[in-house]
Amino acid sequence: MSTDYDIIVIGLGVMGAAALAEVAARGVRVLGLERFDIPHALGSSHGGTRVIRKAYYEDPRYVPLLHASWDGWQDLSAEVGEALLIPTGGLHFGPRESPELRAVLAAAEAHGLAHQVLDAAQIHRRFETFHPAPDDWGVLEADAGVLFAERAVMALVEVARRRGAEVRAREEVLDLELGGERVIVTTDRARYTAAKVVLALGPWWPRWAARLEPGPAATVPMTVTRQVQCWFATRDPAAFRPDRFPIFLRYGLGARATSDRLPEDGDDDMVYGLPEAAFPGLKVALHAVATGQVETDAPRVERVSDPDQVDRRLRPEDEARVRRWVSRFLPLADGPLLGARVCMYTSSPDGHFALGPHPADPRLIALSGFSGHGFKLAPAVGAIAADYAIDGTSPRTIDLFHWDAPR
Ligand SMILES: Cc1cc2nc3c(=O)[nH]c(=O)nc-3n(C[C@H](O)[C@H](O)[C@H](O)COP(=O)(O)OP(=O)(O)OC[C@H]3O[C@@H](n4cnc5c(N)ncnc54)[C@H](O)[C@@H]3O)c2cc1C
Repeated sequence: MSTDYDIIVIGLGVMGAAALAEVAARGVRVLGLERFDIPHALGSSHGGTRVIRKAYYEDPRYVPLLHASWDGWQDLSAEVGEALLIPTGGLHFGPRESPELRAVLAAAEAHGLAHQVLDAAQIHRRFETFHPAPDDWGVLEADAGVLFAERAVMALVEVARRRGAEVRAREEVLDLELGGERVIVTTDRARYTAAKVVLALGPWWPRWAARLEPGPAATVPMTVTRQVQCWFATRDPAAFRPDRFPIFLRYGLGARATSDRLPEDGDDDMVYGLPEAAFPGLKVALHAVATGQVETDAPRVERVSDPDQVDRRLRPEDEARVRRWVSRFLPLADGPLLGARVCMYTSSPDGHFALGPHPADPRLIALSGFSGHGFKLAPAVGAIAADYAIDGTSPRTIDLFHWDAPR
């Protein structure tokens, strides 16, 4: 059996799985390697559901990639015969002065995305379950919805295999040798060679970055943080299903508020949620990113130095923080806890992705810095990764995504 490939993809969370599917579609010989199971609940791609939205406060330059990804999820759904995306609409709301909310509106206007601007009373009339603050306003965007997380990973790996990719799980990559003509990949089971290697290591990336030259100081440094997703029983489950309840984000003043105190009622937090879909209950979580710029957010997020040692238990304060927000803004969902999952963000200093050839060696295509907002964009990321791995350049990437530090 040959152990030589054109491309090896290491890590089959959503990003590696998307890269594998896209590379396989282009007819090259490709191997995907995953250390755990496919899917698993130890990295960043688990928890039943993910938000997809297009009015992107993070930067309007993502919008063309969001259109492509939305279509990519629909195409994948058709290919595997199962709906991986449920459109629900997306409710963004928060205080007047929220810059993120203004950025949502600006992105919607700049890209002609269907949306409505609502005041607090209109939000409550449209969705009676929400109780915004009296001065809140919101943007209701049409093209937003729920993605099924683990099912999406499975579907990507399934189509990759149909397209000829070889896949191995429970096989950990231990070493990469870059000295020769081919990259040598050594796992706990075998040795393989390839012309190019895609590294999609999720929160394990910093461990590898430290071993590559130039090290993390010369490239974009990544911070891994512990994140908790909670599911709450609702008093009227029918009102929280995807046909009546949108994905939502409320933009508190977060990092701009002084953070040596915890807010009384969650009003400062940035919180998002999704209707009852994959798992029982309404999913609600705090979105707090620790980046180089947001050191003041420290009380809200816990840095993870070793992803294998992250605390996967639910701590009382994890639930209390989200529940305080739920009881203030969605009181009908303040029921018993039905589940919780710990997950990890891998964040860049500016919150934008780092995608492309790594400065250590252009044969390594590294995918990182998804900063808690990458899942929805996996189809676009997979295509960009395949462009770089096969053609050496990507016409569809955007200039935010470079690997050079500082950014
Ligand atoms: C709680 C939470 C909520 C989120 N919500 C959203 C959302 O609503 N919308 C959105 O768009 N994004 C969201 N995100 C972000 C998104 O889920 C992540 O950006 C995305 O899942 C990252 O995928 P990944 O493939 O990079 O990482 P991972 O899923 O962690 O995959 C990395 C893989 O590499 C494997 N690996 C590591 N080292 C090795 C090795 N040595 N050998 C072999 N395999 C290896 C790991 O086992 C793992 O499977 C959320 C993230 C979290 C944590």
